[in-house]
Amino acid sequence: MICDNCKVREAVILQPHTGRKLCKECFIEDVRKRVEIEARKQEIVNSNKILLAVSGGKDSLVLADTLSQFINPSRLIAFNINEGIKGYNRSEYVKKLEEYLKDLGIELIKSGFREEIGFSLDEMLQASLKKNLNVSACTFCGGFRRKLINEAGIKVTADYVATGHNLDDEAQTIVINLIRGDLLRLIRLGDKPLMVSSKFVMRVKPLRKIYEWETTIYAHLKGFEFQETECPYISQKPTLRAKVRELLYKLEEKKPGTLLRILEQFDAISEKLKKEYRLTSELPNCIICGEPTTPGRTICKNCELLIRSGLMPQ
Ligand code: SF4
Ligand code: ZN
Ligand code: ZN
Repeated sequence: MICDNCKVREAVILQPHTGRKLCKECFIEDVRKRVEIEARKQEIVNSNKILLAVSGGKDSLVLADTLSQFINPSRLIAFNINEGIKGYNRSEYVKKLEEYLKDLGIELIKSGFREEIGFSLDEMLQASLKKNLNVSACTFCGGFRRKLINEAGIKVTADYVATGHNLDDEAQTIVINLIRGDLLRLIRLGDKPLMVSSKFVMRVKPLRKIYEWETTIYAHLKGFEFQETECPYISQKPTLRAKVRELLYKLEEKKPGTLLRILEQFDAISEKLKKEYRLTSELPNCIICGEPTTPGRTICKNCELLIRSGLMPQ
């Protein structure tokens, strides 16, 4: 089987959404090119500094590897958080991540829940269980991770924070927000970043048009060793996402390219929606930690969780 692109090398991958058979080199080049096209659309290519939120998983390695091909690595800075999840946050993968990033010329900043917030995720969860709070590990995890990433972005004066979300994640999020009718979240998902508050560093997702299977194959073809163990709290993820994921996989299997079409149609609609949406006033600051919070709140969700878990005095 000869590669449909270069017509020279042996094809090793079938790309169902294009119907092409590609060799290793042409597949890697195809992914890189598509990331570059998306990054140019998101207008991040000429920015001064981009903070890459990296977990050490395959997507974050693909993010760093692809972006550094067309953005000077001195303008990229990576940020890794140790959430403090026993058996999951493994130092050997962070070490590997650090080595890969060093080879690419990207500096890595390491941070952790325990150092920055005072408690590991495991400790937060144990405390919340003692108080009989019905809050999932993912609620604690997502909120505090967002806070630390934003703070790091501000600290290094980054113009953007880039995350490794792939096409599967993005299509699932679109469908979930449609089901929930969450307009603001929906608008923020478009291909052009939307500034929702001057207190947040703008978030971008350069891999949003790359299928998850493609980031996995890319990482394997490049020989990256990455964290493959699942988080022990994975079963606490909202079940709606699992159901939507299953549904979208079935549709994609029947008609390859479905996820890409969902995203492309959505981008076209979100452009129109953004014109209608105006940020009328700044977000209020939490009276405890000073972070921006949702209109109508005086204490942010993160501080509220710590108070309700008995980890912060009221
Ligand atoms: Fe955090 Fe939940 Fe993901 Fe585990 S599964 S890393 S707790 S968001
Ligand atoms: Zn080829
Ligand atoms: Zn707060």
